[in-house]
Amino acid sequence: MRIFDPHIHMTSRTTDDYQAMHAAGVRAVVEPAFWLGQPRTSPATFVDYFDSLLGWEPFRAAQYGIAHHCAIALNPKEANDPRCTPVLDLLPRYLVKDNVVAVGEIGYDSMTPAEDAALAAQLELAVAHELPALVHTPHRDKPAGLRRTLDVVKESALPLDRVLVDHLNETTVEEAKDAGCWLGFSVYPDTKMDEDRMVAILRRYGPERVLVNSAADWGRSDPLKTREVGDAMLGAGFTEDDVDRVLWRNPVAFYGLSNRLVLDVAATDATHEGNSVLRGGA
Ligand SMILES: [Zn+2]
Repeated sequence: MRIFDPHIHMTSRTTDDYQAMHAAGVRAVVEPAFWLGQPRTSPATFVDYFDSLLGWEPFRAAQYGIAHHCAIALNPKEANDPRCTPVLDLLPRYLVKDNVVAVGEIGYDSMTPAEDAALAAQLELAVAHELPALVHTPHRDKPAGLRRTLDVVKESALPLDRVLVDHLNETTVEEAKDAGCWLGFSVYPDTKMDEDRMVAILRRYGPERVLVNSAADWGRSDPLKTREVGDAMLGAGFTEDDVDRVLWRNPVAFYGLSNRLVLDVAATDATHEGNSVLRGGA
């Protein structure tokens, strides 16, 4: 089983996770820019974060045989902090980089006017840089959050078929599918979507344009959830081709819209800017 996790925050994960992911079949990931759990206090800290998503993290992933790309954005939560919003002016310098395959994650957290402005501005950046967009939908009041998200996308110049709407569930999948978006589902250990619910959704709506991710980060989450969904699909009678479509070909097709996806992990140097995962040891 080959697996592409289209939404995972590897910065928060250990090398043990990379090893276990590779053993489970994960060969590619996309890491969207996100918040860090505690507030950033200036745009300069985003610069270092974005640089690590483009430098250190792909280097680290390659050591474990995993292709790493990223999506760059001001995340929805920090779009509300005036100390952070000037980072919007820095995004164009990152969105031209080869390893950036989308604008993301953008969208709504609390549905504030500041989030409206950041979402609209970043959808236009996606158009300007010919990139697709990864759009997070709020965990609270999901149907209203999805509706407002789709309204803003429709007002933008970005076509809906270049948008991956993430964190969907049973209450939002139908509307997102009817709108023509790519459909993202984050599978978590004990809250929100789980693998059995995911299988039920795939039975009802089919695998077309469906992507499954672990959204693993610094919170309670599991980077092997993609594999568990693949196993649950096979156990429920889906074919290996169905599994490959959901866990590999659909994410390749979506992020391939960037024309920047490179999936073979070349043998890389043992160091990145003079540093290795061995911390100077043998
Ligand atoms: Zn995320």
